[in-house]
Amino acid sequence: MELSNRQEQILQIVKENGPITGENIADQLNLTRATLRPDLAILTMAGFLDARPRVGYFFTGKTGSELLTEKLKKFKVSEYQSVPIVVEEDVSVYDAICMMFLEDVGTLFVTDESSNLAGVLSRKDLLRASIGNQDLTSIPVHIIMTRMPNITICRQDDLLIDAAQKLIEKQIDALPVVHDTDDGMEVVGRLTKTNMTKALVELARDQHL
Ligand code: ADP
Repeated sequence: MELSNRQEQILQIVKENGPITGENIADQLNLTRATLRPDLAILTMAGFLDARPRVGYFFTGKTGSELLTEKLKKFKVSEYQSVPIVVEEDVSVYDAICMMFLEDVGTLFVTDESSNLAGVLSRKDLLRASIGNQDLTSIPVHIIMTRMPNITICRQDDLLIDAAQKLIEKQIDALPVVHDTDDGMEVVGRLTKTNMTKALVELARDQHL
């Protein structure tokens, strides 16, 4: 977050004199309390300053990067997940390839007859199956998919940063977002590297941290 000159001045005054009232800060800058109000609100919202009634403003001592980390650790999977694209396990490799193009995704999730998560299909899984002269219309995807229990999953309430860690550790592009069911896991979302990139851009653009 870029601070304006005036906001930097306010921070300096509070650092040196805090706790200090808004009125006193305004006096030192030869401005009115009303003029300062938006700047004080921004600095408080961003976490640089804290305000206590009848005491005034004081410096929290947190650096910009500490505040950024705090903000990042509030991001939840549910806020960034995409719609999952799902195929059944007896669908052919050929149809799965068509689905991947039609839906413009890089990862498909595979479900069993109870609609529970059974597997994952990546682009390379489908490419690998396409090398050679097999009839792709007659190979079901359950033959080639990565299957349960070897699927790395996440849940809607998980922290985005923890899901990002899983993508890196397992060297994969996407995680299914799941809910537990009586007999397995239902796929409710898809969390990809693209979702992570969006979160990163949002974090950088956010004016109020
Ligand atoms: P690509 O193979 O297109 O580069 P990935 O890196 O996502 O895509 O996939 C690498 C391998 O990991 C594939 O065999 C895929 O089936 C498997 N895979 C992908 N996502 C997961 C996941 N969430 N859990 C377990 N295995 C996965």
